[in-house]
Amino acid sequence: MTQPCRHLVVVLGDQLNRDASAFDGFDPALDRVWMCEAAEESTHVWSSQQRTVQFLAAMRHFAQALRGEGLPLHYETLREGGLADALREAIAHWRPARLRLTQPGDWRVLQALRAAAGDTPLDITEDRHFLCSSARFAAHARGRRQLRMEFFYREMRREHGVLMDGDQPCGGAWNYDADNREAFGPNGPGFLPPPTRFEPDAITREVIALVQQRFADHPGQADPFGWPVNRAQALQALQVFIDERLPHFGRWQDAMWTGEPWLYHAHLAAALNLKLLNPREVIAAAEAAWRGGRVPLESAEGFIRQILGWREYVRGIYWLRMPDYAEQNALAAPHDLPAWFWTGDTPMRCLADAIGQTLRHGYAHHIQRLMVTGLFALLYGVQPQQVHAWYLSVYVDAVEWVELPNTLGMSQYADGGLLASKPYIATGRYIERMSDHCRGCRFDPGQRTGERACPFTTLYWDFLLRHEARFASHPRLALQVKNLARIGPAEREAIVARADAVRAGSVA
Ligand SMILES: Cc1cc2nc3c(=O)[nH]c(=O)nc-3n(C[C@H](O)[C@H](O)[C@H](O)COP(=O)(O)OP(=O)(O)OC[C@H]3O[C@@H](n4cnc5c(N)ncnc54)[C@H](O)[C@@H]3O)c2cc1C
Ligand code: SF4
Repeated sequence: MTQPCRHLVVVLGDQLNRDASAFDGFDPALDRVWMCEAAEESTHVWSSQQRTVQFLAAMRHFAQALRGEGLPLHYETLREGGLADALREAIAHWRPARLRLTQPGDWRVLQALRAAAGDTPLDITEDRHFLCSSARFAAHARGRRQLRMEFFYREMRREHGVLMDGDQPCGGAWNYDADNREAFGPNGPGFLPPPTRFEPDAITREVIALVQQRFADHPGQADPFGWPVNRAQALQALQVFIDERLPHFGRWQDAMWTGEPWLYHAHLAAALNLKLLNPREVIAAAEAAWRGGRVPLESAEGFIRQILGWREYVRGIYWLRMPDYAEQNALAAPHDLPAWFWTGDTPMRCLADAIGQTLRHGYAHHIQRLMVTGLFALLYGVQPQQVHAWYLSVYVDAVEWVELPNTLGMSQYADGGLLASKPYIATGRYIERMSDHCRGCRFDPGQRTGERACPFTTLYWDFLLRHEARFASHPRLALQVKNLARIGPAEREAIVARADAVRAGSVA
């Protein structure tokens, strides 16, 4: 019979960080690490092949590093079923006096592991990866009628001394978005620095083969795979981003171009979310590049806002509002997600491009997620829980604490305006302005009815018609609603008929 251990330290697939608090006081003579590849983590939503490879490959590399350090580790390679059953067996085998777990990134996992612990005491330790603890965020939220990212972000800047000159923001403003967000213009982006991709080593190749075999019917493809899977690679990817792409990040943050998935973005979300990188080191590198004169302030500030602002803010909202948050559907959106979201097989060029690269690489940048796939689902009226399941499945960086508030709150307005101050809605004209997609498309973003009407434009007006009463006096949407007054009854009918045809699949 095995000797009972003191602490069994549970390390989940998005906790690949030796500094995690669950390791505090770890004694290799008394304690053990437990890691497990549970198939259910790839099946509770229909996880894409690229995403599963990302998690399993990074876990196996972390396990290798722990073994290299001489830590006693029990690592279960891919097994059927869920984490909870696997943990029950591990407890029966190792008979630990206590379990230790850094706060997980998924409410569902936390409940399952709590239940699995049974009579064995389970210490949930603070996740120090984040700059703002759940308790700190709750204090920020307490007593506020409205939560807004911008105010939270300013508090974080002050509290952590980021981009500050004394008590004032560097450059005199908190936000430089007015200088950002250009489109590329008719000739496109021109030369683009190549993304940092890593040739899979033997461990990753083995994972790719495993995923291709066990999850063959899952969306997307496992190969080619080039994401960072260990800390050294993540640090290299960070350095190249700071040197080559951050200088242009702000300016082109919202731009899109057909066949160009990478542009000037960081491609660091998965490395951050799996904890291969610490957000403090990413923020510090961006600030140092600005202070060293290598990056304009609007790029450094725009980038830092995403990490110190949005990333921490959405996590705060997740833990403040779960589990009810996941069930919300403020606009009572009733429709099923169109099946082509899982294949990209649609004549709408913008969507075919965004979904195609998503399934190939497990990646799309923020504006593609918010203003192409997300916008379409919102205007179409897809039930938000189905939209959530799609986003959680397809991106290599998808972990529920960050994916859910972005999808349900920011993109689908399903929380009724808790996270974002208004629904992000636009016609196809927005996509036309920010990309080249419409040039080669069979639809026309300027038309809302008729054979060539762009589905985004039709559905935009249909959305306003459906929600006219709700948003007529909304401070940030009333102007858009007012434009309905110019549309007569016959055209309203034509819009609704065309929107129905889009939903019936007879248009696109
Ligand atoms: C519907 C929807 C779903 C999303 N799902 C996820 C998700 O599952 N995981 C995820 O990490 N991000 C998600 N995002 C946020 C954002 O789109 C991605 O973080 C970003 O596109 C990742 O690419 P990048 O690393 O090149 O980011 P960049 O555009 O270069 O941004 C830099 C970093 O800032 C952080 N960041 C940027 N925007 C956000 C945001 N809105 N919320 C939180 N962090 C942010 C990320 O860590 C990112 O790596 C989602 C956004 C939307 C609209
Ligand atoms: S016309 Fe409409 S569907 Fe076609 S690419 Fe433009 S926005 Fe997308």
